[in-house]
Amino acid sequence: MNLILLGPPGAGKGTQAVHIAEAFGLLHLSSGDILRRERKARTELGQKAQVYMDRGDLVPDDLILAMMVEHFGQAKEKNGFLLDGFPRTLAQATGLKSRLESAGTRLDHVVSVEVEDAEIIARLTGRLYCPECGRTYHELFSPPRNAGVCDVNGEKLLRRKDDMPEVVRQRLETYHRETKPLIAYYGEQGLLRTVDGIGEIGEVSERIKKACRA
Ligand code: AMP
Repeated sequence: MNLILLGPPGAGKGTQAVHIAEAFGLLHLSSGDILRRERKARTELGQKAQVYMDRGDLVPDDLILAMMVEHFGQAKEKNGFLLDGFPRTLAQATGLKSRLESAGTRLDHVVSVEVEDAEIIARLTGRLYCPECGRTYHELFSPPRNAGVCDVNGEKLLRRKDDMPEVVRQRLETYHRETKPLIAYYGEQGLLRTVDGIGEIGEVSERIKKACRA
């Protein structure tokens, strides 16, 4: 089974993708995570992507498509793939379609996780992470035991540059302009399943699984 999780930044796609990929035995490919790894390793791609990411803009389509296609091969050892954060533009979606067609495969479901803008802003601007161990927290929903420091190692917690309020607004604008048209695009192909993204993590996972079994 090949799936896409679609939705605004902060809709919980990353968290859900881990659960769903495990439940269905899929290869989880998160474009944001791959880009962050490339940045950390200071590769050429990582350095090019950095400028766009810190502004809350999209990285150019050709770079993203080439990067994602490189990882698709690993899905052969699994029951398929689950794409999270990709595609984010119509050009990426059509590029993906033709790559899959030439590989003799196709998408089964595109699940749109729906969350309103006001909720997204509250979720994203409260996110914190530990630069040492990578553990994530939220000021409101899952705060550390002591404000501002990691429970595991006492390191000072940081906010991702792209979770700063002005960048979050920019990311949401980009989502509405570039990514939302994909909902209609996949709807026309009969692939779209819509799921309410508000609720406990387990509840939302169940909704997604149900949508993919239907
Ligand atoms: P994410 O963690 O998915 O919110 O991604 C973080 C940032 O990486 C985004 O704000 C973009 O700058 C970049 N990015 C991730 N996926 C894509 C994509 N499919 N197309 C373009 N840029 C992307």
